[in-house]
Amino acid sequence: MKFSEIKYQRPDMDALLSEYDALTGKVKSASSAEEQLFCVKQHEKLLSRFMTDSSYVYIRHSVDTRDAFFEKEQEFMDEVQPLFEEKVQDFYKALLASPFRPELEKALGNLFFLNMEIANKTFTPENIPLMQEEARLTTEYSKLLASASIPFDGETVNLTQLRKYEESQDRNVRIRAHAAEAEFYKAHEAELDRIFDQLVKLRTQMAKNMGYENFIELGYYRMRRNCYDAKMVAVYREQVVKDILPTVRKLKALQAKRNGLDELMYYDNNCFYPEGNPKPKAGFDEMLELGRRMYHEMSPETAAFIDYMIDNELFDPIAKAGKQPGGYCTYLPDYKMPFIFSNFNGTSADVDVLTHEAGHAYQAYRARDMEIQELAQATLEACEVHSMSMEFFCYPYLELFYGDDAARAREAHLTDAVSFLPYGCMVDEFQHIIYENPGLTPDERKAEWAKLEQKYRPFLKFEGPYWGEGMWFMRQGHIYKDPFYYIDYCLAQTAALQFWAWAQKDRDAAFSAYNALVEKAGTETFVDLVTGAGLKNPFTEGCLEDVAKEVEKALLQ
Ligand code: ZN
Repeated sequence: MKFSEIKYQRPDMDALLSEYDALTGKVKSASSAEEQLFCVKQHEKLLSRFMTDSSYVYIRHSVDTRDAFFEKEQEFMDEVQPLFEEKVQDFYKALLASPFRPELEKALGNLFFLNMEIANKTFTPENIPLMQEEARLTTEYSKLLASASIPFDGETVNLTQLRKYEESQDRNVRIRAHAAEAEFYKAHEAELDRIFDQLVKLRTQMAKNMGYENFIELGYYRMRRNCYDAKMVAVYREQVVKDILPTVRKLKALQAKRNGLDELMYYDNNCFYPEGNPKPKAGFDEMLELGRRMYHEMSPETAAFIDYMIDNELFDPIAKAGKQPGGYCTYLPDYKMPFIFSNFNGTSADVDVLTHEAGHAYQAYRARDMEIQELAQATLEACEVHSMSMEFFCYPYLELFYGDDAARAREAHLTDAVSFLPYGCMVDEFQHIIYENPGLTPDERKAEWAKLEQKYRPFLKFEGPYWGEGMWFMRQGHIYKDPFYYIDYCLAQTAALQFWAWAQKDRDAAFSAYNALVEKAGTETFVDLVTGAGLKNPFTEGCLEDVAKEVEKALLQ
């Protein structure tokens, strides 16, 4: 089945919700584990149907935010999502109270139960109106960013398309492009401040309603974290500062020298070479076919995967007016279809879509026959291991996209990958500060961000409107939309860099360990998945030190 053949109909929520009530009633009155396992199967069907509808609406709305029909459907989904979740939580509660729990755990695994317990800690019916308001606000944020239509050098571009100019080899173009972006954010500063302030207060209220001191603990549970807490994350961040930042500083000094610059300004950060960053040589239309060639050369499994994706129209890669910026991969469980959304802009980010987002899609494709949705989908830091490691496993094929520039493309990518770690930790620490101190004013929040820049990116100099005012966080959508989802990228990158180092010595062993990890999907915790693949646990002392050494060996010696 192709994506264009999917027929959408608004779900009949009354029917769906009462089906759930009936199912929960059956769990409560069941007289055997078998009966309850049958109910779990029914629940999986309902869950899968609703997830399919809501992902489909999300895709159609983000592909064209001006489409009035799907705008309405997205509003509808924002409204009903918490009502649906309430029913799922009731169902979980009934299962958790089962007298047959030992038999159920035997059939479904302990983790299924641990995850249900965590899910239960995120929800109280009292919070439903707040959750609806939260969804409305995050949609408002996305629409505001998607509305950006910026005149630049005779073109009208969106924020993603502007990135191409922001990394131009011509410093003046970089400066002008950053100024154009600054102008957009400054023009909407009051709105962005208001949306964020409302979100912080709403989330804090949700936490209080559930008896938490602040939103942090609830935020962790909402991310379904089942093997680490805020304390461990704080230790990890300090390790990044101690073990990774010195390497990043050396790499950034090299970048400045290469570009003939005395100091690196914020607008120089993404320009790696004086002759320009390596760009894909192919036109937008050829990119998918090059992706097909790459995955065919990689392995039979990846070949089958990419054919499935392209032949069933499961990519919407090209930037166009009205399209939401950024990129993502989502999944339509009823059709067993991953779907990749992106905004090609002619930079290396286009190749990343075919390596990173495709890594997510590859995992979803490989786990498509798993019946239990809760286990078919890993927690998010594990999902980012799938995608970020795939970026590295694609290294031998980058000649397809970059031709003679491939070696430089690998060098820039690896520099970027390791430089990302301090940035990611900064985003994470910022959110901890924000939710520990929900009473901060918008200006105080900006001051906190500016302070963190000193700690995590001391190699970059900021000045002027927006960029010099601690407002950078406003362009980092996760901070608005998915609180505490950012450290996941750092943890995953720590695993992915280990796969990279391993693949340099023994590619076959590394790739088969990666495949085994991908196939386990969410049946194990993040730490178990990583250590089970033969990698070091990112939380252990010394893990990042090893990563830094390998990177320095590759890039600085
Ligand atoms: Zn990702």
